[in-house]
Amino acid sequence: MKYYIIFGPPGAGKGTQSSLLVEKYCLKHISTGDLLRKEIEKKSELGILAKSIIDKGCLVDDATVLEMIRKEIFANKPDVNGFILDGFPRTIEQAISLDKLLESLGRKVDAVIALEIDDDVMIKRIQHRAKIEDRVDDMDFETIQNRIITYHKKTEPLIKYYKEKGNYFPVNGETSIEDGFNDICQIINKINNE
Ligand code: AMP
Repeated sequence: MKYYIIFGPPGAGKGTQSSLLVEKYCLKHISTGDLLRKEIEKKSELGILAKSIIDKGCLVDDATVLEMIRKEIFANKPDVNGFILDGFPRTIEQAISLDKLLESLGRKVDAVIALEIDDDVMIKRIQHRAKIEDRVDDMDFETIQNRIITYHKKTEPLIKYYKEKGNYFPVNGETSIEDGFNDICQIINKINNE
């Protein structure tokens, strides 16, 4: 069982690349953003709380998202080759908790595939996505800006964290979907052959 993280700022293409990877490598896609949006649709207690946070472009608390990830990983599907985590971890605390969780299973994060894009491209991509998907947090410029600030402050430090662990693989996120996907496949094929 492999554990991959698809990493990058909002609008980097994590969801798009995840869908392609799921198909090609038979992985289970776990997106904390999607899970939270499902809770919002259900209007559950968690959903109501999450909506107020997401609409501001802030992060839901670490314990809540970790519990969501834990449930998904333990609802282990034997018919997949691994997991692709999208939008998680987003803080150092989440990364440490994930390492502990995988360690308890005798596993590790096999690769952090990082889609690298500049802030101006990020903004353009999010604004384009707002026209296609009905995401409240994509529509308001202030929310977009806050998500970018949150990314730089809370999530970007993970780059150093994973670089030090030696499992950080950067990919140019500003190329076409196909070129980005080819670059990611090369990384995964190499890991699968090790
Ligand atoms: P995403 O779809 O990954 O862009 O996530 C949408 C929003 O959900 C984020 O802006 C956060 O408010 C929240 N969220 C998703 N994943 C996490 C996470 N790992 N930790 C905290 N908040 C999260």
